[in-house]
Amino acid sequence: MKASPDLARSLTELRAILKLHRDAGLKIGFVPTMGALHDGHLSLVERAQAQSDVTVVSIFVNPTQFAPGEDLESYPRTEAQDIARLAALGTDIVYLPRAEDMYPDGSKTNVRVEEMSDLLDGVHRPHFFYGVATVVARLFIHVQPDVAVFGEKDFQQLQIIRRMVRDLGFAIDIIGGATIRDCDGLAQSSRNAYLSGEERRRSNALSAALHRAVCRIEAGGAIDLVRAEAETTLLAAGFERLDYISIVDPERLQTLSADRLAPGQEARILAAAWMGGTRLIDNMAIAQR
Ligand code: AMP
Repeated sequence: MKASPDLARSLTELRAILKLHRDAGLKIGFVPTMGALHDGHLSLVERAQAQSDVTVVSIFVNPTQFAPGEDLESYPRTEAQDIARLAALGTDIVYLPRAEDMYPDGSKTNVRVEEMSDLLDGVHRPHFFYGVATVVARLFIHVQPDVAVFGEKDFQQLQIIRRMVRDLGFAIDIIGGATIRDCDGLAQSSRNAYLSGEERRRSNALSAALHRAVCRIEAGGAIDLVRAEAETTLLAAGFERLDYISIVDPERLQTLSADRLAPGQEARILAAAWMGGTRLIDNMAIAQR
């Protein structure tokens, strides 16, 4: 295990470090992040370590996935602490690109994964998945990993990345890592730091409502009724507004039209809800027994 990771603060530095590993024929695993690392991120790093010889973690707060008025400036930045946590895990390389590495002056090339990017979160944050796909494609080209790990916490993002990799022919295995939750069920997120004590206490209602909905649909409940009940529960629990709560087909992310799940059918429930000024997202798998 390495005592401390190699820090690459530019694309040139990253390429020099990676060349040594690639020339040695080592398998490269990659975890892209925006920093403010929590146990959810670290679980992905461990997953990448288990699947590769050399692990690269990137930390870059990507401006193209924030719309004007969103939290780009206030997004938590905890670089020294992040590096210490990655060092404790034995991460090999931390890539901290400068903005000009990711977006060279006058940059004009973007990646758009059509249709899937315009559903669910894409309805409410129309810029978001275009920014994500663009930065992830660029990071893939910089790192050229064999394996990359993304969290199921951001399920729509995971599926969009899978589609992009397939469409563009990246030779990268995409692995989905399970969502890491606090003891009360709230999915860990860098943005949970925005919640006040009272908001934090109420926020566990999101995972509880999704869990109950999963259980009821798996037991044969009517999808529309269960969805409506979850919505009512969340509003009663103190969420001011829901951007969406949807039960979709896990591949194409289209809302299910059937009344109930067929035997053996898989689905996913996803929600985005506002607690005070903080937008929380969560999702869970549904599988008809
Ligand atoms: P972010 O730094 O928020 O862009 O997230 C970087 C990666 O960590 C993404 O692949 C996320 O899906 C993943 N991630 C975020 N929160 C969690 C969590 N609670 N459990 C597992 N993975 C997570």
